[in-house]
Amino acid sequence: MSALIPEADTTVRYGERLAGRTTWRVGGPADLFYVPPTIAALAAFLSAYRDRPLLWLGLGSNTLVRDGGFRGAAIVTAGGLGDLTLAGATVRAEAGVPLAKLARFCAQAGYAGLEFLAGIPGTVGGALAMNAGAGGHEIWEYVAAVETIDRHGRVDTRTRADFEIAYRRAASSREEWFVSASFVLPAGDTEAGMARIREHLAIRNRTQPMQTANAGSVFRNPPGDHAGRLIESAGLKGLREGGAVVSPRHANFIINEGTASAADIECLIGRVQALVQQRTGILLSPEVKIVGDAA
Ligand SMILES: Cc1cc2nc3c(=O)[nH]c(=O)nc-3n(C[C@H](O)[C@H](O)[C@H](O)COP(=O)(O)OP(=O)(O)OC[C@H]3O[C@@H](n4cnc5c(N)ncnc54)[C@H](O)[C@@H]3O)c2cc1C
Repeated sequence: MSALIPEADTTVRYGERLAGRTTWRVGGPADLFYVPPTIAALAAFLSAYRDRPLLWLGLGSNTLVRDGGFRGAAIVTAGGLGDLTLAGATVRAEAGVPLAKLARFCAQAGYAGLEFLAGIPGTVGGALAMNAGAGGHEIWEYVAAVETIDRHGRVDTRTRADFEIAYRRAASSREEWFVSASFVLPAGDTEAGMARIREHLAIRNRTQPMQTANAGSVFRNPPGDHAGRLIESAGLKGLREGGAVVSPRHANFIINEGTASAADIECLIGRVQALVQQRTGILLSPEVKIVGDAA
């Protein structure tokens, strides 16, 4: 591998703490940390790295990395894979493009539909994996095709029909990860699109604890109900574990007040789950992905 990834390549680092790469600001070191500058470089990295464990991250806004970190390679697309282009009526975004940038780009190019992504603090790759959504829309509604890569570095073009798409889920029968997506969008008015983006952001400012370290909604909404409503009705707003606390503003958010460890957050997730089940009979399942080793 060293022939393909020289030590001097600043896109590869060893023992980098992942706390700086997640919005919860927690997470131990990855053995190897790679920000792929291009899809071709990523393909070369994967074919050299072979069968060792991989952790894919965008902006880490839906991921809890445990305090012991990750034994393998963390592939972080945010800050790499950032191409964003318009060809004809197709917008192509690489996996590391921030959703807010994609939303503004489309509105400014005169296309409608993706404004709802503006307030979701993730990347295109993370949003495809999670089928991110807000305000009644989900990202896969607008996807014409995606490019994926497998662990040998082979790139393929796939369509929506190749995935099982559901609420906060996009499953494939293969082991593959997203490197880009192409969107075909209805024509729209730029001013109206930018106004919708401002409106989405204003709603979030009113309803979510915006200036805090969190990972958005911790639990999936159970059928016909809202996790936040159940947590609030169980009286759990303000429940605390070390430096982690259930947001007094939005009960489905857990905030790192600054000193929380990943273990604090994971413990609080377990306590909320148990108490909600005890008081309402409903078992909430986490939306956030919990990865890595305990300290
Ligand atoms: C304040 C706040 C508000 C939020 N609001 C919303 C909301 O309204 N709606 C919503 O749906 N989500 C919301 N989220 C959650 C989160 O932003 C989304 O799930 C987002 O799409 C995750 O993107 P990411 O790049 O940060 O993913 P990450 O957290 O980095 O990764 C999430 C998952 O995707 C996988 N993944 C990452 N990149 C790739 C790739 N290239 N290929 C394959 N798998 C990959 C990871 O392994 C992980 O399993 C919110 C989060 C925060 C902090």
